[in-house]
Amino acid sequence: MMDIVAIVGRPNVGKSTLFNRLIGTKQSIVDDQSGVTRDRQYGESTWNGKDFAVVDTGGFVRGSDDIFEAAIRLQVEIAIDEAAVIIFMVDVATGLTDLDEAVARMLRKTNKPVMLVVNKVDNHSRLLEANEFWSLGFEHTHFLSSVTGSGTGDMLDAVVEYIENREEEPKEIPQIAIVGQPNAGKSSFINALLGEERNIVTDIAGTTRDTTSSHYNKFDREFDLIDTAGIRKKAKVYENLEFYSVMRAIKAIEKADVVVLMIDAADGIESQDLAIFRIAQRRNKGIVIAVNKWDLIENKETNTARDYEQTVREKFAPFNDLPVIFMSVLEKQRIMKVVDATMQVYESRTRRIPTSRLNEVMQKAMERYAPPSYRGREVSIKYVTQLPIAYPAFAFYCNHPQHIQDSYKNYLENKIRENFDFTGVPISIFFRKK
Ligand code: GDP
Ligand code: GDP
Repeated sequence: MMDIVAIVGRPNVGKSTLFNRLIGTKQSIVDDQSGVTRDRQYGESTWNGKDFAVVDTGGFVRGSDDIFEAAIRLQVEIAIDEAAVIIFMVDVATGLTDLDEAVARMLRKTNKPVMLVVNKVDNHSRLLEANEFWSLGFEHTHFLSSVTGSGTGDMLDAVVEYIENREEEPKEIPQIAIVGQPNAGKSSFINALLGEERNIVTDIAGTTRDTTSSHYNKFDREFDLIDTAGIRKKAKVYENLEFYSVMRAIKAIEKADVVVLMIDAADGIESQDLAIFRIAQRRNKGIVIAVNKWDLIENKETNTARDYEQTVREKFAPFNDLPVIFMSVLEKQRIMKVVDATMQVYESRTRRIPTSRLNEVMQKAMERYAPPSYRGREVSIKYVTQLPIAYPAFAFYCNHPQHIQDSYKNYLENKIRENFDFTGVPISIFFRKK
């Protein structure tokens, strides 16, 4: 997994300006969480030969004080949980604010490296003014101008040094998030799996008491279950329960390798389920659809499951190469089937296809149906490789990457899916110039 550098800070300090500078021309992925927070952006950067991911955690737009607190807190919590290094940005043009102090208080509690970055230090007089920020008490403070780029090099040297000095992560255990609407049966499912052994092993220190995970290790299967069971209690405090539970689901999804989306068979798929599904898809997480409470569907006939499954696939289109499992926690039906599907998706998501095999298969597919020419220009793809990142992504090298149509991209994706099992796994396809 690539290390994450997170940029936090109140709105307008220049987070996204720095973000854009760091990722340069590389692609950014914007996650629009409409309403309370503005877009969260992800991208990749390289410095001194080290690759890392950059997250601009977004900012608050408007709302009541409560939601404001929640939004900024969440932003900082996500950074503390996910990042290898946190860039805490403040703005010399407006000077030190109460909100800066509040964020600083939260960040002082983490033992992750935090760098205070004083932005908009565009000239010498601002450099003098910037000294007031030493009062926040961060040992590692950098002064820079995101607009001109001055000072960013030194800061990046420090970021990369932090990343390289970090301890190695322990062995990877699949992280599974069980998400879905209240009452879908998530807790019942987790209880059925863990029974008496439901012991909470990770309580992320000092931050989110209700984001926990439980370890499962039985019958040769080992994984951590990320729990969102605490949602409802906490959500009562907030007016907008749905918003809050979606935010929690997002947090769980972020930590997960595979997301089990639990649906209540009697309710079917609702807009909130689709929203969660799309988030998991955009984050390139593995996905399993578990249709629970199958016992509630009366007068089942031979075609009932097949027709229901058809409906589910239509809802999730175009990404519907998914495991869909009909289960009942109540009647203990197919609980382990969900577990096995989840492990299967995990395996597929981490699979590396050897370049030779990949090219053999894809060359054939491209011979059968070559990329359409563009305004008389021949478009040709030379070869393809799978990128060395946490989820399946493929780079096709070609003469005119900009002239490959979406329909052809879909064709290539389908061929990959036909030949290599990626059921439940979103895959990314890029075209690069060669
Ligand atoms: P965010 O909301 O924190 O992400 O902040 P933005 O990146 O949107 O920046 C807010 C404003 O500050 C924009 O008008 C930027 O052009 C401006 N800005 C960002 N960095 C600098 C800087 O280094 N110097 C100056 N003078 N303005 C900056
Ligand atoms: P959560 O909010 O998603 O954690 O849902 P819970 O696990 O608390 O379950 C909500 C309700 O659905 C409880 O009353 C459960 O007993 C019930 N329930 C869970 N699984 C099933 C099932 O397979 N069939 C039926 N009929 N009820 C279920």
